Amino acid sequence: MKIEKIVVGMLRANCYLLVDGGEAAVIDPGDEPQKIIDAVEKSGAKLKFIANTHRHFDHIGANAAVAEKFGVEVLANLNDGDILAIGESKLKVVKTSGHTPDGVCFFGDGFVVSGDTLFEDGIGRTDLEGGSDGQMAASLKKLDALIPDSAIVHPGHGNAFIYKKGISLKYLQWT
Ligand SMILES: [Zn+2]
Repeated sequence: MKIEKIVVGMLRANCYLLVDGGEAAVIDPGDEPQKIIDAVEKSGAKLKFIANTHRHFDHIGANAAVAEKFGVEVLANLNDGDILAIGESKLKVVKTSGHTPDGVCFFGDGFVVSGDTLFEDGIGRTDLEGGSDGQMAASLKKLDALIPDSAIVHPGHGNAFIYKKGISLKYLQWT
């Protein structure tokens, strides 16, 4: 799976273009649709779907424009354990509420797209509408159990980083 980061919008949200076997998916097209459309076209892959880690405006702002351009669906109401196929690769949906009630992470082979749940040096805010300290704590524990050591985490803002068991647990004291 090839993963391209496209930084979009005033809040510099990370949109990800995932490409495998001639197919592509866009995660979190937050803004600047043309930039995302150009990246999809440049990849030469067929866009299969759009999905979001959560529904804050900086992650969904260009959903409609990109969906319309390529005639694809924006996947909604994802459930824990859902499997999404891109080419020969699979993405697994893992529910991680806390930053928002509907938040998810996407697990691929050796990587995780973590949205605003887990960043390189912190975790997502829980003081916005629908946020929950208790749910965030549960999600951080769940992620630590599920993310393999040395997996690459691609967050919703900022830099990708390499996961080490226990990283997410150190934030529990803040919740
Ligand atoms: Zn957010």
